Amino acid sequence: MSAARPAYDDNNIFQKILKGELPAHKIYEDDKTLAFMDIMPRADGHALVIPKTGSRNMLDIDPADIAAVMETVQKVARAAMEAFDAEGVTIQQFNEPAGGQVVFHTHVHVIPRHDGVKLRPHTGDMADGAVLAAQAEKYRAVLAAA
Ligand code: AMP
Repeated sequence: MSAARPAYDDNNIFQKILKGELPAHKIYEDDKTLAFMDIMPRADGHALVIPKTGSRNMLDIDPADIAAVMETVQKVARAAMEAFDAEGVTIQQFNEPAGGQVVFHTHVHVIPRHDGVKLRPHTGDMADGAVLAAQAEKYRAVLAAA
């Protein structure tokens, strides 16, 4: 028998960003999704895409929200190639603590990559706000021209 899945708890950081209670460097928004800069980036241009409807992860999300999130992931990934002169993009998504998830509102990581450049380790250090703001602006400029 499979273990019971925990219910979505809307007292999480990304829900606070959605409600405007916490700031974020936003790069794209539509009626179903929001994309913003990861505050502890593993590479320059590391972005997150989230659904606006609350779900914990891939185990409880409505399939329609998966489709909406992945459409936005593709937009952001394409923009990342141009905005960060990337040679590739790593897309990651974690489910439950055992799967590496830390924030329990569904999110997908979009990480621009360059040949031979390893991802930075998780240090817990927050990136400089001005740097993230400039990177978000690069994304927005590319997306506006798309
Ligand atoms: P995970 O749940 O393992 O996919 O990781 C959560 C991600 O959210 C990490 O990459 C964090 O750096 C990122 N993160 C946590 N708090 C914030 C925040 N306030 N704004 C943007 N990104 C965040």
